[in-house]
Amino acid sequence: MQEKGLLIVLSGPSGVGKGTVRKEIFSQADTAFEYSISVTTRKPREGEVDGVDYFFRTREEFESLIANEKLLEYAEFVGNYYGTPVDYVRQTLDNGKDVFLEIEVKGARQVREKFPEGLFIFLMPPSLSELKNRIVTRGTESEEVIHNRMLTAREEIEMMELYDYVVVNDQVELACERIKAIVVAEHCRRERVEHRYKKLLEAE
Ligand code: 5GP
Repeated sequence: MQEKGLLIVLSGPSGVGKGTVRKEIFSQADTAFEYSISVTTRKPREGEVDGVDYFFRTREEFESLIANEKLLEYAEFVGNYYGTPVDYVRQTLDNGKDVFLEIEVKGARQVREKFPEGLFIFLMPPSLSELKNRIVTRGTESEEVIHNRMLTAREEIEMMELYDYVVVNDQVELACERIKAIVVAEHCRRERVEHRYKKLLEAE
């Protein structure tokens, strides 16, 4: 029987750099997991490609995905829907491949309920002031948006307790290394591997 892959969920407060870390991980040739492309109602940013960065859909299309239970999780974030296509995740895991989700915290909480055996990694900013700097230097947000994002960030950090591991995003390369090391360790977890050896013993 094909062993199932691992569902890896990377989440954390808004502005912590989840997207940057995810892009770095998937730019590395030795990355062995599959990225689950999300569906969103947000408009594409310059350079973003449908089916590569996201599946860009209308609200009506997204709502029909919800109604037809095609999403593993979904959340509304800054006025847009974001969700994870469930069929892709299940099929890829069934094929024995690891699936990587990079999603905000409300979605991650839903995945935890449906897939408690997943690997949940919380990406942390080195400090709250650092987080504010990042949100401000993005330069695209108004004072009010920055204030609201910081409030949200505090609430999101309190959600850390739902996760298995915490990775500080002090440097992107280091954060990626830590995430990959966690995945390697998780594959060696006794609960995941012992059935192989039990089978061996039974065959004796
Ligand atoms: P952005 O619009 O900057 O690409 O993403 C905004 C936020 O949505 C980020 O925190 C990102 O992690 C999150 N996100 C992306 N895809 C999904 C998804 O499928 N589900 C959820 N819940 N959040 C997502």
